[in-house]
Amino acid sequence: MNRTCTSCKKEVEDWNEKCGSCGYTLELVPDDQLKARYLRGPALGALLFTQGWALGSRLYFWFLISLLPVVGFVVLFVGLFFGRRLSWKYGGWTDWEEFTERMRRLDLLGVAWVLILGGVYVYTRYL
Ligand SMILES: [Zn+2]
Repeated sequence: MNRTCTSCKKEVEDWNEKCGSCGYTLELVPDDQLKARYLRGPALGALLFTQGWALGSRLYFWFLISLLPVVGFVVLFVGLFFGRRLSWKYGGWTDWEEFTERMRRLDLLGVAWVLILGGVYVYTRYL
């Protein structure tokens, strides 16, 4: 799934534009550039609904540790900043479309989750 460095033939992760071992800057086709940029972007869903996001991203280990107090907070930050990369690498997605579609839904799920929590809070507090 990863690209190989044109200079030293080592593997370069999808979200990097530079080779980690020799520092060579790869020339990316526009599609790969978009991909790299997308993977470096934040995962909003992880911020809003960490557990649901980890589960949906197929990061089952992260899901389990996100259930623990304190550690769950770490998972939130890792998920927010590195979530897309982790999920793309370890999620075992069949293709890019399946992956991005899931990421999009998880972001929406996170928004829905916060709205529900907010609604429940307002309901129990004021009504
Ligand atoms: Zn290289």
